[in-house]
Amino acid sequence: MNDLWKRAIERLRPKMAPEVFETWFGVLRCESVAPGRLVVRIPNPFYEDILQGYLPALKEALQQEGGLERPPSIRWKVDPSLEPADDATTADAGGSEEAPPTVPPPARPPASRRAGRAPRPSGRAEEMLHPRYTFDSFVVGPSNQLAHAASLAVAEAPGRRYNPLFLYGGVGLGKTHLMNAIGRHVLSRDPGARILYVSAERFTNEFVRALQHGRIEHFHRRYREQCDVLLLDDVQFLASKEQTQEEFFHTFNALHHMDRQVVVSSDVEPARIAGLQERLISRFQSGLVADVQPPQLDTRIAILRAKARAEGIELADEVAELVARHVRSNVRELEGTLTRLVVRASLEGRALDVTFVQRVLGSMIPGEQGRPRPGIEVVQRVVAAHYGLRVSDLRDKNRARRVTLARQVAMYLCRTQAGASLPEIGRRFARDHTTVLHAERRIARLAKTRPELREELRHIEETLRRGG
Ligand code: ADP
Ligand code: MG
Repeated sequence: MNDLWKRAIERLRPKMAPEVFETWFGVLRCESVAPGRLVVRIPNPFYEDILQGYLPALKEALQQEGGLERPPSIRWKVDPSLEPADDATTADAGGSEEAPPTVPPPARPPASRRAGRAPRPSGRAEEMLHPRYTFDSFVVGPSNQLAHAASLAVAEAPGRRYNPLFLYGGVGLGKTHLMNAIGRHVLSRDPGARILYVSAERFTNEFVRALQHGRIEHFHRRYREQCDVLLLDDVQFLASKEQTQEEFFHTFNALHHMDRQVVVSSDVEPARIAGLQERLISRFQSGLVADVQPPQLDTRIAILRAKARAEGIELADEVAELVARHVRSNVRELEGTLTRLVVRASLEGRALDVTFVQRVLGSMIPGEQGRPRPGIEVVQRVVAAHYGLRVSDLRDKNRARRVTLARQVAMYLCRTQAGASLPEIGRRFARDHTTVLHAERRIARLAKTRPELREELRHIEETLRRGG
């Protein structure tokens, strides 16, 4: 069976760049089959997203190689042991033998693989710092400026300022990245520093195991004595886990007492973590609490550019902007979208240009939070209804002020909500694309100074979110 699998993926190899193939297919393992069904092991869930784009080609290759009547079905199964060894670097060589295996980071770009880092000795469970999550690769904008500055200050002088540092914000906005960057930065200045990066989930598991196996002293040594910087990710996981909170409280006090740095992250600010003990909340509030917000358009574009540069992808400005306008929720989604686009362009032998990206974005990605984006028709209908006009008024030459405003609002929302291109919108409004661009800019500008317009936009956007 493995043979069939190998022959099938060999068929795909010539269709893409070598490093793309190696990255996404080289590590896969075909596990078992029932007739017409394959189970393929992947290193982490992110692969599933990426491989989705290859599925038709893959199934067709399997069908042909196996002489099957119908394309087989494929089920992905996550197997972290497939994660390449150079994916992360050991930060704490003195890890516990008891510790469960580290959860691998979600995405690993081809670039880090090509860099050919020497794999560190492994074999026991160890804490990992992600090699790509550095301050250098972190794009700073208004949405994350404070969190970045505080992280850097902490990394420069751990335990001296902002102790603890508490980072909070929505998913995929860079908290884990910053924590890893702190760890790496400290290590780069002091290679002997004992950095413990650990998710609250893992902290909990280790604690429970230590209790079960009568190794609590070992656990205390690890977290209270042999640790210079503790980076505890996703502390909200401790909610309602009274015993673990108690343990962490004492860990925190012990470290803090010795001026060892503690950095904690969470999805919400300390006081809003339901089920967290008051005394922990007040400890967290005693240091610096910094938030990360979703990045604005400019920052999203800068992030895409940086990512493209790091991976040697050529990314035209218009394409970067198109993707950045389309994906607004978080940075992980933004990066994932770029990767998927690159893979797909390479598979289809297409250039990563506006036409291609527009087509793929239209079909590939759901809107924010998995909601489909509204189409141009829906935007036109909702905006017309909002202003008490007919849809045809938006397309006709009517220059009445009210109609003009409604038309420009509709064009603006076709850009921001439908994510459509200038020429496409132009066509649907029987206008030139420069007129659309003008409308978009005008509404964006007016919205800054006119609260009533902002309110109107918010209202229409809300209607669009509910599906029109
Ligand atoms: P969180 O922990 O807040 O959920 P992560 O730190 O895991 O988010 O970030 C998700 C992805 O987005 C990572 O690949 C990270 O490198 C990237 N990322 C987030 N913010 C930035 C930024 N400002 N600059 C560059 N990459 C970023
Ligand atoms: Mg995280």
